[in-house]
Amino acid sequence: MSLRTLAAPLALAAWRATGPLRANPPGAVRILILHDVPEAQFAALADLIAVLQRSAGLITPGQAEARLAGGAPADGKAPVLLSFDDGFRSNFRLTREILDPLGVKALFFVCPALVDMAPEDRRAAIGANIFRGRRGADGLDLMDWEQLKGLAASGHEIGCHSARHVSLVGLEAGELEDEVGIAKTRMAAVLGQTSPWFAFPFGDVANIDRTALGIIGRHFPLCRSGVRGLAHAGSHPLALPAESVDLGAPPALRLLAAEGGMAPLYRGRLRRLEEMAS
Ligand SMILES: [Zn+2]
Repeated sequence: MSLRTLAAPLALAAWRATGPLRANPPGAVRILILHDVPEAQFAALADLIAVLQRSAGLITPGQAEARLAGGAPADGKAPVLLSFDDGFRSNFRLTREILDPLGVKALFFVCPALVDMAPEDRRAAIGANIFRGRRGADGLDLMDWEQLKGLAASGHEIGCHSARHVSLVGLEAGELEDEVGIAKTRMAAVLGQTSPWFAFPFGDVANIDRTALGIIGRHFPLCRSGVRGLAHAGSHPLALPAESVDLGAPPALRLLAAEGGMAPLYRGRLRRLEEMAS
């Protein structure tokens, strides 16, 4: 058993015990990030949702948008919004099997140029762009437009995760426009609706800069990062923090991440992101 596995239950207990000392700012929303969820992790996802429904509660993308815009009472709560990155095919199945029966509405960030590719090219791009060559697609594929339309039709939201899932740092203005503005246009054309939500690929401060955030802000009112923290009405709308949750991690570590217990380690990075956005 690793130190991390042993320490996580203690850290979770300490984080929960000190919870009453931490007041949630007005309009707080705890945004969670999940990726591909293999079938072996469906039970872990269902468990996590059950815990969250009993504690903070889950909200829809539209409700999260309203809270972040200041349209919620200062209720001291930090309800949870589920987001899924990259649009993996497992997301369709888990939505139908787990989310829909519970009435939970989630936010899915997809890359339209990858969805548009021929299957073989897409598998290569999953390895090269999403996994950055660290692994291949290994049987994974992305949801197609029909599945994405189906999710949108049943009340889920489809946000933009750039056109091709490449780092937006160092791109020329025209390339940035392709990755953000043209991606938005393509999604609107196929889905028949536009989401206010963008999430930049890789999510960390090394993969975003002021120029890219400027272009994003011209096309989208909300940009979710992968930097840990609690989003709230006072957050910069283009520097929204979120908590990545690894469903393959031990239960206490999953909950520690989902309840914000790792966010204090990311305060400096969140400040840097906010500086880039302002
Ligand atoms: Zn991604």
